[in-house]
Formats: sequence, structure tokens, C-alpha cells
Amino acid sequence: MNDWHIVCDFDGTITRTDVIDSILQRFADPSWEAIEDEWLQGDIGSRECLSRQLSLVKATPTELLAFFDTIEIDPDFPDFVDHVIGLGASLEVVSDGIEQGIARILARNYVSLLPILANRLRQLGHDSWRIDFPYASDACRAASGNCKCKSTPKGKRVLVIGDGQSDMCVAATADFVFAKDRLAEHCERNGIAYARFDSFAELPALLAKLPAASAANTTPFNVETQELFHHV
Ligand SMILES: [Mg+2]
Repeated sequence: MNDWHIVCDFDGTITRTDVIDSILQRFADPSWEAIEDEWLQGDIGSRECLSRQLSLVKATPTELLAFFDTIEIDPDFPDFVDHVIGLGASLEVVSDGIEQGIARILARNYVSLLPILANRLRQLGHDSWRIDFPYASDACRAASGNCKCKSTPKGKRVLVIGDGQSDMCVAATADFVFAKDRLAEHCERNGIAYARFDSFAELPALLAKLPAASAANTTPFNVETQELFHHV
């Protein structure tokens, strides 16, 4: 897989839950939910959404770290990382979540050295925070905190692994998508080539069926592969 680059979402994809939503439920004023609705309806981008929501959080660093340590990941993710890196692919965790939380959670699960491209918490006071967006782009069509499209390298085939709204933009330009939940529905509705999955344990078998780069532009899938991708 030397010619493949994998853009892997974090919240809801590597984890079962959304870390920021869980932080907001636990530590923020309930008005965060009305802001979430504005984002889900497309009235604001995630950059504005997250800025406003994180300003509502009241939590000390100790409380946040203890909270990150309660988050479970898909138990098959670490083996999947070893598998794809062994096959020669590059993989980055590209997330509209919080870099420090992702790093803490992955390290606790013995996943280290993976690049993490995500938003960054900055402490303002004893228990107050703001969120910075080192990977934002003014040209981002989705006005996201992290413009996932911007991170995809030129000259490589791109495989997106994700579950939700923050993955939809980059999925549209990917060569293939492994999708859960709302992202799978979005791919289905929009004719984006994808395979549905629930666990990273399923992905090595699906990876083996990805088209080789040399043949991919001319013969995307044979009948057998099409069957596999559309019925998982
Ligand atoms: Mg997600």
C-alpha cells in the first residue's frame, strides 16, 4: 500500500463516543446544545461551533485529563495501525477534536508516533479554555476547525476512515472511504465509493480488496469486489 495515504477520523471512529460532546455534557453550560444544532443544520461551521462551545467549559486540567482517561477506543485499532504501516501506507489521525485528548488516549492504548492533526486547547484561567485551529483554512468549504481536505497529500491515493459530518467534505475527494453511521449514509446518498464497517477488526480484509494504484483509474472494481463493498 505504498501509494495510499489514510486519513483517519478520531471521535466516533477510533472511539465509540464523541470526546468533545462528552466534555460538553459533563463540564459545560447546557446552552452548548443549541450551538450544536446550528452546526448540524449547516448554519455555522465547526470552527465557530467549537469556539463558542469550548468557551462554556469549566474544568481544571486535572479534571480534563481524568476525563480523557475514561475514553475507550476500538480495541482493534492498535493492530490495524501496525497492519497498515507494515503494508507501507501512511496514516494520520485527522480530527476536529482536541489534540491533547487524542494524544493522551492513543498513548494509553500504546499507539504512539502517529501524526495527529487536530485542534488545540489553550488554558485561559484556572478552569477556562479556548480552542485554537492550527489546521484551519479560510478556503474550507465546510468552515471546519480542521480542514481535513487540506491535509491530504498530492500524488497519493487517499483512503478516508470516518463516521460523521466532519468527514463528509474530504470523503468527496477521496479515492475510497471506509464509513460508519452518518458518513456511510452520506456516501450512499452521494454516490461516493465506500464500504461500511463497524469495527477496525473488519478493515484488514477490506484493505486487501482495494484496487492497486496502477489499475485503479482504469478498472476500479471487479464484480466480486463490488459485491463485497456494497454488502458489508
Ligand atoms: Mg467523527
